[in-house]
Amino acid sequence: MPDFQYVEDKEFQLSERVESLRIEGARLYDGTGAPAVADSIVIVQGELIEWAGPADDAPLAGPDDLVLDAAGMSIMPGFIDSHVHLCAEHQRPARFDPMFIDHSELALRVLGNTQQALEAGVTTVIDCGGREYVTMTVRDAINAGIVQGARVLTTGPGITITGGHFNWFAIEADSDTELRKAARTLVKQRADHIKLFGTGGGLTMTSNPARAQYSVEEFQIVIDEAERGGITVTTHVHGTPGIRNAIAAGIHRLEHCQFFNEDGGISFDEDIVRQIVDKRIPVSLGMARRWRTDSSIEEHLTPRQLKQRAIRDERMDVLRRFRTMGVQLIASTDAGMTSTPFNDLPNLMRFLVDSIGMGIPEVIHSVTGRAAAAVRQGDRLGAIQPGKAADLRLVHGDPEVDTSALSAVAQVIRAGVVAGGPTAANGRRGAS
Ligand SMILES: [Zn+2]
Repeated sequence: MPDFQYVEDKEFQLSERVESLRIEGARLYDGTGAPAVADSIVIVQGELIEWAGPADDAPLAGPDDLVLDAAGMSIMPGFIDSHVHLCAEHQRPARFDPMFIDHSELALRVLGNTQQALEAGVTTVIDCGGREYVTMTVRDAINAGIVQGARVLTTGPGITITGGHFNWFAIEADSDTELRKAARTLVKQRADHIKLFGTGGGLTMTSNPARAQYSVEEFQIVIDEAERGGITVTTHVHGTPGIRNAIAAGIHRLEHCQFFNEDGGISFDEDIVRQIVDKRIPVSLGMARRWRTDSSIEEHLTPRQLKQRAIRDERMDVLRRFRTMGVQLIASTDAGMTSTPFNDLPNLMRFLVDSIGMGIPEVIHSVTGRAAAAVRQGDRLGAIQPGKAADLRLVHGDPEVDTSALSAVAQVIRAGVVAGGPTAANGRRGAS
């Protein structure tokens, strides 16, 4: 537990802020899913976006504006990775190392992981389960401007059953009273959301991915307590019974959602998917590299994960059907798990464009406007619009011409501060 608490919510930064920054000539993807604006101007004032739109409609530059010539680049909101585990060590089986180092070393690793995300233009990470309250400590230090990193929203530890999935990064809760106590404890520790493990998972051999860990009533206890505290609940769910219980209880988001059955296969349930669509429940994919890349990572996987990997074509079919039926998909990486680093989100997005045919404005929307709305941060994050936080990502080229542009980071700005330095490298002062 942290031995101090910041009560100040307002974010401010150590480094010099660019008071008025004018980014000219980039192709604008605004994070709403709208088609790109070919020639845009984006004006940043302090930590907020002041104006954004077609260059022809823009107000004139002032004499003190710092002007960044972004011709040949694309600009988009800073990405939000909705499913990461900052306490995990992605290069090893995740459950070992982080449990046996002291809190201060773990906090530094967590900070390093947020910086790896930030360098890739992932300006916000949503942590879905870590060791005790270490992620809160790092979140607060970043918000207070003591250190630089991606903005962190976190559950702290998740909630699971005794011996259940992710129990080393969760509060174990089995009864109604224990669930209520666990949820209230997380609210007290100022969790930004709560992660409930609704089924078992591939990493935890004492858990069962096909079966529900909690009943409808048990889900409801946690959701009620979260809503009392003004936060949302997301749930890790693989098997259909867990998905069904979560939806019936009024869950806010679903993670993974693969319809695993007891035989280790997939039983797609169209009726449940219709409920997900009707209730507008976002599905965050939490799609670690083991679901998409070559065989070099297989030595790091558990036997059960290897079995799951064997059915990844079926999982891709599930995603295609989700998309066709109108599910609100959110690309998210499960970074920290099995060989998935914290800068991997652009790679996953390119994979989804290539494999299930998501469009570029659509896949950007899934990690910006939609991801922000899913954690009730849509009023301040996730779109390039006046009044929103100036979390911006400039890349070389146009991702609609070549998807590799999604990864070609030229500049990252978080809350109006150019990440890694106070001023834009090729900026100039004065009206154009
Ligand atoms: Zn996860």
